[in-house]
Amino acid sequence: MAEKKSSVWGLPMQILAGLILGIVVGMFVSADIAQTWFRPLGDLFIRLIRMVVVPLVFATLVAGAAGISDVSKLGRVAVKTLLLFMVTSAISVIFGLVIANMIDPGVGVTLSTEGLKAAQVNAPSFVKTLLDIVPINPMEAFAKGSILQIIFFAIMFGFCLNMMGEKGKYIYEFFDVTGQIMIRMTGIVMRYAPIGVFGLMAAVVSQHGLAVLLPLGKLILSSFIATSLLIIIIYIPWVKFWIRIPLGTYFKNIFEPWVIAFTTCSSAAAMAANLVAARKLGASNAIASFAVPLGNTINMNGTAVYMGVCAVFAAQIYGIDLTMTDQIIVVVTGVLAAVGTAGVPGAGLIMSTLVFTQIGIPLEVIALIAGVDRILDMIRTSINVVGDSTTALAVSRMEGELGTEPFNEEEA
Ligand code: ASP
Repeated sequence: MAEKKSSVWGLPMQILAGLILGIVVGMFVSADIAQTWFRPLGDLFIRLIRMVVVPLVFATLVAGAAGISDVSKLGRVAVKTLLLFMVTSAISVIFGLVIANMIDPGVGVTLSTEGLKAAQVNAPSFVKTLLDIVPINPMEAFAKGSILQIIFFAIMFGFCLNMMGEKGKYIYEFFDVTGQIMIRMTGIVMRYAPIGVFGLMAAVVSQHGLAVLLPLGKLILSSFIATSLLIIIIYIPWVKFWIRIPLGTYFKNIFEPWVIAFTTCSSAAAMAANLVAARKLGASNAIASFAVPLGNTINMNGTAVYMGVCAVFAAQIYGIDLTMTDQIIVVVTGVLAAVGTAGVPGAGLIMSTLVFTQIGIPLEVIALIAGVDRILDMIRTSINVVGDSTTALAVSRMEGELGTEPFNEEEA
C-alpha cells in the first residue's frame, strides 16, 4: 500500500523533472543532435498514447451508453455538454480579445512579411460537417481514428446493446472489462511519460531556441495572461463552488493530461490520460466517455483564446482598426474555427486564417505567428484538454452523478 501511494506522488514529479531537464538539455545541444537522439524518445511516447485512444473511447462509451436505460438522459447530457462547450469557447475568444486589446501585442512589431505566403483554409459546409459524423463504414472510422464517427457508432451500439437485455449481458461485460484494460494500459504507458516528455522538450527548445521569443514576446504574454485568466476566473470557481472538488485534488489529477498536452501540443495525444483523470475525479463513466472524446474534437478553449489574441495582433501589425462589429465577427468565427481545429500540433494556426479572412487581414501574417506558434500551441493545447475534463465533471455534477461510481483502477 505504502509503495502504491509513493508511486502516485512520484509520477507527476518525474514528469516535471523530465520537462525541466528537457528544456535545459535543449538549450545546450544542437537542433540536429536533438532531432536525431531525443526526438524519437518523444515520438515513441506520442505513438504509445495514441495507440490506446480508439479502443479506450469505443469500449468505455459502449459500456457507458449501454448503462443508460433512459434515452432522454443521454439527450440531456448531450445538450448540457454542448452548451457548456459553446459558452466557454465564446468566453475564451472574448478573453483573448480583451487582453490583447490591453497589451497591444502587435504595436511596434515591424517584421517583414515579404515573400511569405499563406494558404487560406475554407470552412467545410455545415451540412457536410454534420453528415460526416455518420460513418459509412465503422471499420474505416476505427482505422482512421475519426473520433466523432466512433462516438456516433459507439452510442448507437451501446443503446442497441441495452435493448438486448439479458442476451447482451456478456457483450456488455466484454466492453466494460475492455475499457478497464485500456485504462490500465494508459497507466502503464504513462510510466514512460518522464522520458517522452524529456525528449519532446529537448527537441523543441533546441529547434526554436529562446531568442525567437523576443520580438513576439507580447503575443506570447497576451496568450499566457488570457488563458491564465480563463483558469482563474472561470475554471477555478467552477471547480471550487459548482463542481465542489478540492482544488488540490483537481490539480493533482489534471496534471498528467495537462503535461502531455503541453509537451506534445496535441489534445488527441492527451485524450486517454484526460479520460482517466476525469474518471478519477469522480465523473461518471457514461458522461466522461461521452464528453471527453467529444470535447477533444470540438471543445478547444485555448485555441479560442488564441483566435482572439491573434486577430488583434494581426490587425495591429497591418494598422487595421477592429470595430465592434469586427470583434463580434471574431468571436463567432473564432468559436467556429476552434470547433473545426483538429487536436494535432499547429492546427489552430491554419484555422486562424478563417478568422483573418472574415475581417480582411492579409493571410501572410500567419507566417509571422508561425515563428512562435509552438510556444503558443503549448499554452492553448493545455487549456483545450483541461476544458474537456472539467466539463465532464460539471455535467456529472448537474446530473447528480459526481463521485457516485468509484474509479476502481489501482495502477496510475
Ligand atoms: N494543438 C492544438 C490541440 O491539439 C490545436 C491547435 O493547434 O490549436 O488541441
